[in-house]
Amino acid sequence: MNGARPVPLLDLTRYDEVLRSEIARRVEEIFKTGRFVMGAAVEGFEGALAREIGVSHVVGVSSGTDALLAALMAVGVGPGDEVVTSPFTFFASAGVIARLNALPVFVDIDPATFNLDPGRLEAALTPRTKAIQPVHLYGQCADMDPILEIAGRRGVPVVEDACQAIGATYKGKPAGALGTMAAFSFYPTKNLGAAGDAGAVTTEDGRLAGLLRSLRLHGGSVQYHHDRVGGNFRLDALQAAVLHAKLPYLARWNERRRAIGVRYGELLGDAARAGRVTLPAEAPGRRHVYHQYVVRVADRDRVKARLAEEGISTAVFYPIPLHLQECFADLGLRKGSFPEAEKAAMEVLALPIFPELTEGEIERVTGALVRAVGESRPRYSK
Ligand SMILES: *Cc1c(COP(=O)(O)O)cnc(C)c1O
Repeated sequence: MNGARPVPLLDLTRYDEVLRSEIARRVEEIFKTGRFVMGAAVEGFEGALAREIGVSHVVGVSSGTDALLAALMAVGVGPGDEVVTSPFTFFASAGVIARLNALPVFVDIDPATFNLDPGRLEAALTPRTKAIQPVHLYGQCADMDPILEIAGRRGVPVVEDACQAIGATYKGKPAGALGTMAAFSFYPTKNLGAAGDAGAVTTEDGRLAGLLRSLRLHGGSVQYHHDRVGGNFRLDALQAAVLHAKLPYLARWNERRRAIGVRYGELLGDAARAGRVTLPAEAPGRRHVYHQYVVRVADRDRVKARLAEEGISTAVFYPIPLHLQECFADLGLRKGSFPEAEKAAMEVLALPIFPELTEGEIERVTGALVRAVGESRPRYSK
């Protein structure tokens, strides 16, 4: 490792001191009031997030997974229904569909953006399709215009899985204000992270917002009267307080992530032009917030191991596409069902990215990566 300090994939301990004391102040306030679940802290954060995203309703919930689950419940997804989503995403995107005894229907991805390919969407719809759930993977919005056009024509609601994309935009409109509803995660590693689990659902639709508020409290609006079966999807006051303190930093953190993306692009430009590495592409009209900076390399596992030898942490999001997961074996899908998702799973490699990453660390990552990919044969030999 050349004696140099290792470069972590993510370091959640590099904290701004001003922010740290602001968090402590807000947490102390909660202890003073003794209101630990829901309450003014949650309402305060919901209002601030609604203004930040530019959406009418924000419903704070217990996690990104529960945000997706509640959103699908709100549009009535149930046994025998189908929900269309991407096979190349975090497990929760499809897990929530299965938990409602509905069928996940996968549509292969666009290899350039890793997001659901709208050109293949229409063919996946049936009279049983109850929702379309595109994922804004790695911090870049799916191609929403064609998705919304098809959904609108077929009268099917669209639930954005925006868990990785807070602050991203599509043709100037923010993730979370594009579909019928959107789910956000504030898991600590996300671009806006809580000190534990937290999430939110956004919507423009007041009726759906009311339904979501009821669903997060076991389907009740008046205590001990249950209009429907919901769950405990409540957001903790402490998490809301932490998130409210961090929210004013989000825009500059995302700017810093984008600047790191630009820097990686400059330093890896030659290797990319030589065909040794494929850099992430920002599609036209999209503002990528680089929740992850993901390159493609042939011989990925060897490259990952070489980087590890030089003290560079990387990760693979995600090594197994969802249609090949054991728990979905009964869907009858197999290797070859979604070739682009399968190819991506073999080639993707996430490099360290977080706002506090230093220029020196960026150069160590790219130096090690250029050396590692230089050892294998270029994809297009002369
Ligand atoms: C993080 C994430 C989720 C789930 O969020 P949790 O807060 O961990 O439950 C869902 N979908 C995607 C794409 C995610 O990245």
